[in-house]
Amino acid sequence: MTRRISILGATGSIGRSTLDLVERSPERFEIVALTAQTKVDALADAARRTGAKLAVIADPERLDELRGKLSGTGCRAACGPTGLVEAATGDADWVMAAIVGCAGLLPTMAAIESGKTVALANKEALVTAGSIMTDAAARSGATLLPVDSEHNAIFQCLAGSRRDDVSRLVLTASGGPFREYSLDEMRSATPSQAVAHPRWSMGAKISVDSATLMNKGLELIEAHHLFGLPSDRIDVVVHPQSVVHSLVEFVDGSLLAQLGSADMRIPIAYTLAWPERMATPAKKLSLADTGRLDFEAPDLERFPALRLAREALERGGGAAVVLNAANEIAVEAFLKERIGFCDISRLVEQMVGAIDAPAPRSVEEVVALDRESRERSSSFVAENCH
Ligand code: NAD
Ligand code: MG
Repeated sequence: MTRRISILGATGSIGRSTLDLVERSPERFEIVALTAQTKVDALADAARRTGAKLAVIADPERLDELRGKLSGTGCRAACGPTGLVEAATGDADWVMAAIVGCAGLLPTMAAIESGKTVALANKEALVTAGSIMTDAAARSGATLLPVDSEHNAIFQCLAGSRRDDVSRLVLTASGGPFREYSLDEMRSATPSQAVAHPRWSMGAKISVDSATLMNKGLELIEAHHLFGLPSDRIDVVVHPQSVVHSLVEFVDGSLLAQLGSADMRIPIAYTLAWPERMATPAKKLSLADTGRLDFEAPDLERFPALRLAREALERGGGAAVVLNAANEIAVEAFLKERIGFCDISRLVEQMVGAIDAPAPRSVEEVVALDRESRERSSSFVAENCH
């Protein structure tokens, strides 16, 4: 039986890796819908190659251009938020949620509410909507499959075990490009240094998050929602080789880990073939060539973002929404060279301290709090930065 696939964020790093795997196994998969924010050419190319039925461009101004590029293909063009929701809820039975940021929340929730199998890369959606999202999945019968390499590793380690037997989760972090930088060096770090990740090739936003360790902070919150453990039972350890992708500790003291080369096609393939497995072109790991594996505790002085995320998780309420929104605005401002690297965490800390919101009870309340936090973060950038 072929799996009918929809990819939200098809032109991004995760979206392209997903397409790569799908296009290598045309007998197993059929592409139903693809979406992108602005990249009309890449979207139309992918739609043509895969015979997609629907292509959605989020930016409505580019709809005519997309229509033109798809003429004669039989692929319908759509745009805007309604187009994204249509791609998420249409004929597909498996949806890759790979839009970056809280912008992916509504289509991801729509896929969950319509009971799809949802491969979740878009961590910001789960960080902000948390139990609203997991409750919706429980109600609709949707299956959430974690794509993030750490959560996918944990998901693999948990297979076949009883949840009561789990004592702790251990998320590994590469430490990012500034692992060995002094605070002074970090203060003058440029966007191009921040996006040059030593192990993984990813989109710009998550690359900056990896440099501040906010990525690991978001992943801590993500792990809490996916696996239901409290903050004090989820540890983070820095592991520069990115070979061990995360671990689960059981009550008897056993520690299970998932290892592999740093290629997102491995976790993506696990979600595509789940509950089976499929071959991937990823390089097989040679332990002899790897030689050694190092682990160290994260430095919360130089990487305050990880502490801020843990505090937001422990505080609850709307803190994770504010943290995420402030971080998205700060990363954008840093990439445009309006603020320095260390200002990212400073801005986040300021906003999480200033906005004391109760826990949102619906996606609409998440969206409203996200918007308010973004506006206040943007004003803060405008008032305090060049
Ligand atoms: P990316 O920037 O490479 O791609 C983002 C995709 O989302 C693009 O297709 C873009 O067109 C689309 N998009 C962006 N803004 C949008 C908007 N406002 N509306 C609609 N579509 C929009 O990002 P990425 O690195 O592929 O990451 C995607 C998600 O996966 C992120 O949440 C990231 O944290 C997560 N993730 C990525 C990796 C990785 O290796 N890249 C690993 C783990 C998790
Ligand atoms: Mg990750």
